[in-house]
Amino acid sequence: RTVYVNGEYVPEDGAKVSVFDRGFLFADGVYEVTSVLDGKLLEFEGHATRLERSLSELDMASPVTKDELLEIHRELVRRNDLTEGMIYLQITRGAAADRDFAFPDPEETPPTIVLFTQSKNLADSPAAKVGMKVISIDDIRWGRRDIKTVQLLYPSMGKMMAKAAGADDAWMIEDGHVTEGTSNNAYIVKGGKIITRHLGSEILHGITRATVLRFAREAQMEVEERHFTIEEAKEADEAFITSASTFVMPVIAIDGVSLGDGTPGPVAQRLREIYLEESRKAAI
Ligand code: PLP
Repeated sequence: RTVYVNGEYVPEDGAKVSVFDRGFLFADGVYEVTSVLDGKLLEFEGHATRLERSLSELDMASPVTKDELLEIHRELVRRNDLTEGMIYLQITRGAAADRDFAFPDPEETPPTIVLFTQSKNLADSPAAKVGMKVISIDDIRWGRRDIKTVQLLYPSMGKMMAKAAGADDAWMIEDGHVTEGTSNNAYIVKGGKIITRHLGSEILHGITRATVLRFAREAQMEVEERHFTIEEAKEADEAFITSASTFVMPVIAIDGVSLGDGTPGPVAQRLREIYLEESRKAAI
C-alpha cells in the first residue's frame, strides 16, 4: 500500500512519524473516514467540513486546503487501485521537542497529517443481511463527542465488551438515554417513525446521519430527533445504526431482546437501499 504522510506518498513500510508526536502521546488529534464505492468518494464535502470544525474546536489549523485534501484522497485511490473501501485521515498537533501538556507553538510545531486506504466490501456486506446485535454499556467518554478525536480507547473497550457478550457492538447510555454506538449513530423505529438522538456535544454529528435523515424525510418517512431510553429501544419495532463505513445497518437485538421478528426491519432495509443508490450517484 501507498500511504500519505506530511506531503509525501510513500510505501507503508517506509512511512515514519515521530515518537514525540502528540497523537501518539496525548491522543491530540482528529480523524475522518471517507468511504469509496466504484473508485469514487462518498460525502467528501461533509467529511472535509466536519474535519475543519474538529480542528478549529481544538485550535488547530489544517496543513492542507480542502482542494488539496480532495486531490490526496483521489491520488491514494489511484495509487492503490481502490474500488471499494475506506480512506482514513488523521491530523495531529505534531511532534514537539519535549513532552509537555501545554500545546506547542504551531509556528514551531507543524501538524502531522497521515492518510491511508483500506480495501473492504461495503455495499455487499454480509452483516447487513443478518443484522447486528448490540448490548448497552455506560457512556463514560469525555463531554466533547462532537469533536472527532482519535481518543478511542473506551469505544474499543465497548467493542470488546460486546464481543465478550456474543454481540457485535455496544450502545452507550448516559443519564438513562442512549447516546450512540461505539462508532456509529443509533436509531429506533416505532410505528413507522424514525427516532434518533438530537444533536449536541453528547454525540458525533454523523455525516451519514444527516444524509440518511434527509433521504428519510424526502421519502415521506416521519423523523423525530430526540433522546430515547434503552427500555424504549427494546420495545421498538426495529433499530439500526449509521456510519460512513456501514451506511445503514439493521440492529436485530438489544441486550439479548429481539426486536420485531428478530430479522432486519423494513425501514432499515429501505433506507440502506436508498442510501446506496443515492450516494453512488452523488459520489465524486
Ligand atoms: N458516532 C461515533 C462515535 C463515530 O465514531 C462515528 C463514526 O466513526 C459516527 C457516530 C458516525 O459518523 P459518520 O456517519 O460521519 O461516519
